[in-house]
Amino acid sequence: MSFYENTLKNMQKAAKIMNLDPEALEVLSKPQKTLIVSLPVRMDDGTLKVFEGFRVQHSELRGPFKGGIRYLAEVDLDEIKALATEMSFKCAVVGIPYGGGKGGVKCNAKELSQGELERVTRKYVQAIYQIIGPEHDISAPDMYTNGQIMAWFMDEYSRLVNKYQPGVVTGKPIEVGGSLGRNTATAQGGTYVLQEYMKLHDMKPESTKVIVQGFGNAGSFAAEILHGLGFTVMGLSDSKAGVYNENGLDPAGVMEHKKKTGSVSGFSGATSVTNAELLEKPCDVLVLAAMENQVNDKNMMNIKAKVILELANGPTTAEADEYLSGQGVVVIPDILANAGGVTVSYFEWLQNQQSYYWPLEEIQTKLKRVMVESSQRVLDIQKEHHCTMRQAAYISAFDRMAKALKLRGSGANLLCKVYNH
Ligand code: NAD
Repeated sequence: MSFYENTLKNMQKAAKIMNLDPEALEVLSKPQKTLIVSLPVRMDDGTLKVFEGFRVQHSELRGPFKGGIRYLAEVDLDEIKALATEMSFKCAVVGIPYGGGKGGVKCNAKELSQGELERVTRKYVQAIYQIIGPEHDISAPDMYTNGQIMAWFMDEYSRLVNKYQPGVVTGKPIEVGGSLGRNTATAQGGTYVLQEYMKLHDMKPESTKVIVQGFGNAGSFAAEILHGLGFTVMGLSDSKAGVYNENGLDPAGVMEHKKKTGSVSGFSGATSVTNAELLEKPCDVLVLAAMENQVNDKNMMNIKAKVILELANGPTTAEADEYLSGQGVVVIPDILANAGGVTVSYFEWLQNQQSYYWPLEEIQTKLKRVMVESSQRVLDIQKEHHCTMRQAAYISAFDRMAKALKLRGSGANLLCKVYNH
């Protein structure tokens, strides 16, 4: 099953439980717009390379399209459609007034120089700028994109429309309209969700052992925050390898090591393990913060975690999800667990629109409120419907989107007419 089919399956299961209007499911099962662009870029060695880029706009029922951009060699339309769809649900779960979108460029960002990355980014913006904008479609960082790439993105868009437009993209560096607290927001938001779950199940940080897959933006901050709260972080991994110590690791020390060597691999005071082995180690909470389809039909039988916190998008396949829930493993779903990122992106966009910047404390208080209230709503729905947390999160989002669809009238036609450039 592809990632997009997986997403549709999750939607269909929740729609059935809540008895959703079939028309709402029909409308939300198809992205409003998909754009594929080709990007000819001059490389440092003088050769010309043509990259493929994507932007998918899933739904703007509840507000402008919103979603990150990934630079990945394996990226394809199916994946971007799935991620754009999940973004609509994510924004609805946390009640922020956005719809969903996602973008990507098929490239290996690690092999590109800074100059090449800048040229790819500017070409990508030139190719999609007519369908984006602070009131239409707002981008953000995702896998292998970062604040610098967002700054080039914003600069190129502002140049093309001849107006300073920081709100066209979030996740920017502070100096060019970024928000305090954005870099830690996904991990911090996920921690609040996990804590709400733990309160209900009488779990304490001091006796909770954690393994984190993925040591990038989401995973490294999650490991540091959880360690700081007293959790034992036993294992960490990146794309190259994993490190494990059942007595606990110091994530800040592992980060120092990664900065020097380029990987977590070889960190002293830990045993080296493969990524696959790390996922199968016993633990209380397995934080998935790398990429999609990591827990699947091949390894689901060997997962020993009690709780899975999905900071990555789509890390558990539908088949594995069903199997794990049958085994009593609780999966805290991506659309809730990692929604802290888009929530602080929304705060960044609000600050850009007002040209007025908030102190960190205000951002953290507002993020906590959103994540705690959204978690409680999902946990209440779960109790009411006796379903999984993923199904409850989808129900929570469907409820808000279906109401918006009803209020706006005969949804699909109206929307396409307004935004069909
Ligand atoms: P990133 O590029 O900063 O980090 C990704 C990390 O995963 C890297 O450390 C990489 O080495 C590692 N990785 C890749 N393949 C791996 C594998 N097979 N096993 C173990 N590690 C592997 O990306 P990120 O922004 O942290 O995003 C990670 C995931 O979180 C993605 O699914 C992304 O869509 C999702 N997400 C991120 C944010 C955010 O704010 N950054 C928000 C919501 C969702």
